[in-house]
Amino acid sequence: MSTNSDETLFIKLQAQYAQVQDREQGYRSDVLWTKYRQFRPSSSWLTRTERAKLEGFRRQEDRLLDRMCSLLDRIGGRNFRSGAPAHWLMTDLSFADAVTTGAMSVVPPSPYGYSDRETAVFAGRVGPVCKVCGAVATLPVYGPDMCQACSDTAWARIEARAKLEPARPANTISNVWD
Ligand SMILES: [Zn+2]
Repeated sequence: MSTNSDETLFIKLQAQYAQVQDREQGYRSDVLWTKYRQFRPSSSWLTRTERAKLEGFRRQEDRLLDRMCSLLDRIGGRNFRSGAPAHWLMTDLSFADAVTTGAMSVVPPSPYGYSDRETAVFAGRVGPVCKVCGAVATLPVYGPDMCQACSDTAWARIEARAKLEPARPANTISNVWD
């Protein structure tokens, strides 16, 4: 359960991240571009001062991301440490999407190594793949790893079998060993 102060902190962390990004982009275009004609020159070209400056931006961004992840661990509707890119959490994630346990209003970009379908599942846009027919289930997902149609078929089969089998006498010794 999140509070107003959680939302305030969430907004503040994103705003501070945007400020650091602004300063970093300013440094890259005013200083690095002017000198090297590159925004991201190889670190072996950089002077010690330039490297320290970039590491400073990086440290501030990492610290804000850490605080955001701790906040999301506490109030988030899903595990945001995986499933969405860190940069996106700091720039695009809305508070409503952060806290919902239902489907998110947007599907985040897939983080490195994740497929688009995994990300859609993460965002609650589709359910997991049905173990029986292989279809991607749309929410809500019925039963363990089964789409609604396969779940219905399975239940129908169980009910049909129950009707065919003769009722057993209750509490007989043989009952235990069957
Ligand atoms: Zn199915």
